[in-house]
Amino acid sequence: MRQLNRPNYNPLDIFLLCVGEVADEDEKNNYLENTDQITDSVVEFDSAATAKNWFALPRVGRGDPEVVIRGTLTKRALVDLYGKYLVGGEEAREVYDELLVSSDGKCPFCGGIGQVHTVDHYLPKSNFPVYSVLPDNLVPCCRDCNTGKMASFATTQHDQTLHPYLDPPSFFTERWVGATVRRTDPITVEFSCSPPNEWSELDNRRARAHFDQYDLARRYRIQAGAELARVIDLRKKSLRNLTPEDFAAYLWENADSDAYDINGWNRTMYWALARTAWFQTANFNEPASYLEPALVA
Ligand SMILES: [Zn+2]
Repeated sequence: MRQLNRPNYNPLDIFLLCVGEVADEDEKNNYLENTDQITDSVVEFDSAATAKNWFALPRVGRGDPEVVIRGTLTKRALVDLYGKYLVGGEEAREVYDELLVSSDGKCPFCGGIGQVHTVDHYLPKSNFPVYSVLPDNLVPCCRDCNTGKMASFATTQHDQTLHPYLDPPSFFTERWVGATVRRTDPITVEFSCSPPNEWSELDNRRARAHFDQYDLARRYRIQAGAELARVIDLRKKSLRNLTPEDFAAYLWENADSDAYDINGWNRTMYWALARTAWFQTANFNEPASYLEPALVA
């Protein structure tokens, strides 16, 4: 989970840039006549961001593209602003491309697993079409996070996932993902959501919602499996002469590396390994020395 800088665009400029891509004069005028509606919607989104209650913004049901959302703007017209004119436009497309590269290619939602592939609507455009081209609602995202989100947008405040631009730094700088190393064959790392005790109930539950909705326990475990096999291989070869203390220091070095997200799978895995004494003393050539007794034939 990475915090990103808010996109440095005036929302109304982006709306007008998209409208500038519209060829049909009547269609274009319809957008322009509703400029005040868009301005109002930006104010509403901003106050929801301050109160952290995006879920309470007016939503529409899926389906019926001709339903009127604001002024004389239909759902179709609002969704087209994104698909036809921002993504499909020429000048406006440059903004989309800038958003895509704004996180150095790393997906901010999944702790360093995925590469950025698309732009995600924090509030889905099918339910919140009036924010379809609002920069604060457009976040670079990997394919798995974009398609795999367990639910459509939250219906309560504590089910809201984390917003990489608009949530406070504590979510991105304090450790709230934990892990346990299991003496299974092969050794596995189990990840869990465990925010600091002093966090508010709301922050605690939002971190959990994020962890669950992006399926991070399962996705982290898969990533960690391959890296852990590599660490064990190193310990059997080039790191074989390190004392347990020096091996622990090596693990801590990785656990403290700022190159990775503090709550990403990588740092969390090393953090758990560095805190697991049996892992540092294990002889990986003799599984009986560290596996659960029941697993040793
Ligand atoms: Zn992702």
